[in-house]
Amino acid sequence: MKVTLLGTGCPQCHTKRYGPANLVRHGSVSVLVDCGSGVTQRLVGAGSPGGKLDAVLLTHLHSDHLVDLYQLIVSGWHQGRTTPLRIYGPKGTRAYVDGLLALWKDERELRIAHEQRPSSAGFTAEVMEYAEGPVVDLPGLSVTAVKVDHRPVEEAYGFVFRADDGSTAVFSGDTRYCPALIRAARGADVLIHECFIHGLMKPVPGMRTQVGIDAVASYHTLSAEVGKVATEAEARFLMLNHFVPAEFDREALSAEVARDFTGPFAIGEDLMSYDIPTRTLTHGDAHWRLGENRA
Ligand SMILES: [Zn+2]
Ligand SMILES: [Zn+2]
Repeated sequence: MKVTLLGTGCPQCHTKRYGPANLVRHGSVSVLVDCGSGVTQRLVGAGSPGGKLDAVLLTHLHSDHLVDLYQLIVSGWHQGRTTPLRIYGPKGTRAYVDGLLALWKDERELRIAHEQRPSSAGFTAEVMEYAEGPVVDLPGLSVTAVKVDHRPVEEAYGFVFRADDGSTAVFSGDTRYCPALIRAARGADVLIHECFIHGLMKPVPGMRTQVGIDAVASYHTLSAEVGKVATEAEARFLMLNHFVPAEFDREALSAEVARDFTGPFAIGEDLMSYDIPTRTLTHGDAHWRLGENRA
């Protein structure tokens, strides 16, 4: 199983960190986790155009995690998809997707009539709503959902991916410190975890207040906590993503995380990949072998 961080940013606009999205590939199967801004470009950059996805999994319905869904449906159709895009999301996803498709109905019908492509089925979506527990079984790969703590968002989940080569990858989704996620992530080959860098979030007159910052911080995992999470989970490798703010000092963050986690970890970047069986991390032309795991 191979994990690629497609977008490591947040709702802020950043030219190097796009909106939250991740890709999991195993054998011929590819699954998208979340659908943030710029995801279709990143999928092409990762060599897995959206038209080839077997499934899209949504952790929760915050806009930064699904804002490019319609673009994914259109561009996948343009890339030759002939079957509906399969979307797995929490309660509320069906209503969201129905509304989205209704909003674009006239435009879609015009395109279908005008562009005369071989299939119109590829320009639709099929929604499956999941709850805690099994989400989907694909060839050689199964996914389960873990309810996380992103209140006041009630329907928020992390995912555990298990491949038939024995590898496991766990995605935190958006959550504050969450014992259920730590239990689910125990011994994971890789834990992909969000990170709220609270030391950098200061009030800006006319833009954000301390009360607002505290409110957002309260439903995310702070950079001072995420190393403890990885230690408690005994994660074999930690990849950080979904950075708030998107611009920060990597060295300072790395030092903060290393205080609590002595295992290997990476400050995630868009299009960084980790191949679990070979314990190989790649980003652009750079290539690292993590070597044997600690005891
Ligand atoms: Zn969220
Ligand atoms: Zn988010």
